[in-house]
Amino acid sequence: MGGRKAQRGVARRAVLIGGGAALVGAGVVAQDELRRLWWRLPGMEKKRVEGELDHAGAVWTAASRANWRRADRPDDYTIDRVVIHVVQGSYRTALRVFKDPGHGAAAHYVVGKDGRVAQMIRELDVAFHAGNRDVNERSIGIEHEGFVDRPEDFTDAMYASSARLTAGICARYGIPVDREHIIGHVEVPGTDHTDPGPHWDWDRYLPMVRQALAARPSPGTTTAGAASDGVRRDGANVA
Ligand SMILES: [Zn+2]
Repeated sequence: MGGRKAQRGVARRAVLIGGGAALVGAGVVAQDELRRLWWRLPGMEKKRVEGELDHAGAVWTAASRANWRRADRPDDYTIDRVVIHVVQGSYRTALRVFKDPGHGAAAHYVVGKDGRVAQMIRELDVAFHAGNRDVNERSIGIEHEGFVDRPEDFTDAMYASSARLTAGICARYGIPVDREHIIGHVEVPGTDHTDPGPHWDWDRYLPMVRQALAARPSPGTTTAGAASDGVRRDGANVA
């Protein structure tokens, strides 16, 4: 653990040196760590409202508090990945296990075969879904109902709904719509998981995400759709 943390510090220094920054060294790294932690001081946490959504089309149903970690993304950690999962079970099974404190894992969202979406963890928090701390801290996890060896589970309604969800995430955090940033659980370093499996149709999914992104109202447009999908923006306006 210690070795890994030290490695991350070195990597950051290397980036700073590469960028030609004049102030380089341990002090810079320590400041970066401090910036990530200041909001954990008593009274500094952002207010959260039970049931508040990041995706307008979702229904809130909370995951167990044991299956995620409080954070303040994207202020403390940059969000630049979406991780696609397949449940290996039903929508109801996913909700049940993510509410189970003994499960030790949960994703931000679950998408059903009929296109319904449950949000179980806020996007500002770190969900334990990828089995890799670094990837968890920088990503949003989306589970999909079904089994990796049953292509018929991946319905038109599921692809369309998931693509709208991912498009919203990409819009909120400026994430490029490509296979470097929208990845399968199988592609997470160190994982032994194989989902979403060979039947998940990336060549179909990514264009659908791009299309959904293009169809979104641009920021500042005062349509009802733009307003209803802006939990984070609305909160910022109030403050
Ligand atoms: Zn997975």
